[in-house]
Amino acid sequence: TIASLVAVFWLSQGSPEWLPITIATLVVTCPCALSLATPTAITAASGQLAKLGLLPARGHALETLAHASHFVFDKTGTLTVGNIRLSATRILGDLPEEDCLEIAAALEAHSEHPIAKSFVHACPQASVHAGDISSTPGHGVTGTIVAQHWFLGKADFIAQHCSDSVSIEDAGGQTQVLLATRDRVHAVFSFEDEIHEDAADLISALKRAGKSVTLLTGDTLSTAKRIADATGIADVHANLKPEDKLAHIKALQKEGAIVAMTGDGVNDAPVLAGADVSIAMGTGAQLAAASADLILLSNRVSTIDAGYRLSVRTLAIIRQTLMWAIGYNILAVPAAAMGYIQPWLAAIGMSASSLVVVLNALRLSKQGRGTSGEG
Ligand code: ADP
Ligand code: MG
Repeated sequence: TIASLVAVFWLSQGSPEWLPITIATLVVTCPCALSLATPTAITAASGQLAKLGLLPARGHALETLAHASHFVFDKTGTLTVGNIRLSATRILGDLPEEDCLEIAAALEAHSEHPIAKSFVHACPQASVHAGDISSTPGHGVTGTIVAQHWFLGKADFIAQHCSDSVSIEDAGGQTQVLLATRDRVHAVFSFEDEIHEDAADLISALKRAGKSVTLLTGDTLSTAKRIADATGIADVHANLKPEDKLAHIKALQKEGAIVAMTGDGVNDAPVLAGADVSIAMGTGAQLAAASADLILLSNRVSTIDAGYRLSVRTLAIIRQTLMWAIGYNILAVPAAAMGYIQPWLAAIGMSASSLVVVLNALRLSKQGRGTSGEG
């Protein structure tokens, strides 16, 4: 439109230069720089993120991550490595330890929970098979073995189904799982799980950036507190079912929070789906990874902070480039319309402005190497 107005104006003035001026205007206003600003920055940043080990899987991931105000974490398999080991077994009935383990492994045969994997690992050649297996997310599993109904899970869950009451002493923050039939508790298993070595770095970096950090877990408060104290999280909510975790972030969102949820997808798939931006642990459930906005492939959780900082820089570079492109057009268009720019110079200006945009975006793939430790 501008170019046709310019052509009409110079023709009406009877100028023999009307054609070169019109061409110069047309070329100089080519909106390459404006339209390149966002895609080049996003592409460069996505490549850099993938190099760090945080794979963006959805288009909005970077932008939402940059705006996140609350970082919410799951415990098992997220802040902890999820490589859970059975550390102690307390036998309460007549059934020997090996049998209890075999029954537990049979009940857990189809579960993706890290606890399940450790049972199967502890008893790889289980000869018993369980039928009617059903899993209650965040609680435990049930199943039938030779006409006997079995329950395996946290103390609250067992108390709902079993008339026997056992006193569970505080296991120093260890996760405990009970094996029971309707009338008695047969064994109490204690599990050890390591915290990611850089989890505390991640939390302190997020707090330094002014973010609220929350731990949501289905485990007991004493276990949750041990992890929270070790990583520096003050806001801890324990004994949550998957739907409670979702309700918690919905409440945060109602208050205006933009929630970035990190989980392994085992018992936290609904909350991952409900968050504004979700980060799935690559080591977690495959379904979670398939539907998450970002997938953490690196085994260092502090990559999440590196990713956050990169997303903030990406938006800054997009803004900067758009301002630059607008500034260029404000100067170049009137100059061309007034006949001060030759068509060949307009072509150079247009190409150069696009080049500046691309080079500016490429800065994103040079910075931010390494993880949060370097501040
Ligand atoms: P987190 O929120 O820490 O990831 P979950 O919600 O997955 O924990 O599980 C909460 C608790 O429920 C576990 O600590 C465990 O006691 C019990 N539980 C959940 N799933 C299972 C399972 N498959 N087998 C045994 N116990 C389970
Ligand atoms: Mg979990």
